[in-house]
Amino acid sequence: MKRRGMLIWSFDFGEYWIDLAARMGLTVLGLHPIPDIPAEDPRSLEVHAMHLLLPRDGFREHPDWYRMDECGVRSNDLNCCPSCGEALDHIERKAEALAEQLAPYTTSHRYSFWTSDSGKFCRCEKCRELSPSDQALILYHRILRGIRRVDPQATHSFLAYQNTLQAPRKIRPEEGIFLEYAPIDRDSAFALDDSSCWKNVCQTAPLRELLEVFGTKDAQVLEYWMDNSRFYGWRHPFGELPFYQGVLRRDAAFYASRGFESVTSFGCGLNAAYARDYGEAPMLEYGRILKELP
Ligand SMILES: [Zn+2]
Repeated sequence: MKRRGMLIWSFDFGEYWIDLAARMGLTVLGLHPIPDIPAEDPRSLEVHAMHLLLPRDGFREHPDWYRMDECGVRSNDLNCCPSCGEALDHIERKAEALAEQLAPYTTSHRYSFWTSDSGKFCRCEKCRELSPSDQALILYHRILRGIRRVDPQATHSFLAYQNTLQAPRKIRPEEGIFLEYAPIDRDSAFALDDSSCWKNVCQTAPLRELLEVFGTKDAQVLEYWMDNSRFYGWRHPFGELPFYQGVLRRDAAFYASRGFESVTSFGCGLNAAYARDYGEAPMLEYGRILKELP
């Protein structure tokens, strides 16, 4: 496995996690936006970046840049109209500007400026035939083009998650787009390839086609095994992490067998206070299991 990582809350980053990540044998530590701080706030580092690429207050001047709902009404709530060339030009320029800030720190050359979280997509006459995944891929292509003017080696993820979990069918990925698979709707108490678990069957059904379309090069898993915030419905107070060691071991082998080169998990809610209350055993075990992968 080329990359073994964890995505933690940015306010948990510090001496404790630098030391722990080393003891876990991680090679990647990602910072997740802070809950309760709006994404627009500069203190929040938000990977769902559409609000930065297409500001909501541009709606009055350019309503045609924004998505149309099922009733034919344009709305600036979430995502844009990917059939609107002007909107795409704007997004590409904004992505370039963001990359100017980020490129000096992005030695991996891997970028993720994702479409809106839980986002709806455009249903205008031109977009209607395009699935959410096709629409997202059009956006990622233009975003990558903007980023590459700053960082010619840049790559960008296609986030397969919620309504973009299916592979795109009308648009083919260009060079530099890699798969990031985040099965948020899975049941974490059962192995992902457990055919008796309906939720997990639904999450894994698109995987074969996703890997055919995007290939395995650079492909990354973004899992929820260690996401204590998710286990408690993203509401404080969190208790002890329900750690399903057997599931983690079987899932990790499953992902390795499918050719993923990078495995990461959210680790939101795991920090020094957690270790004091409940210990570090799951974190260290997570690191050990990933290290054993081929
Ligand atoms: Zn449209």
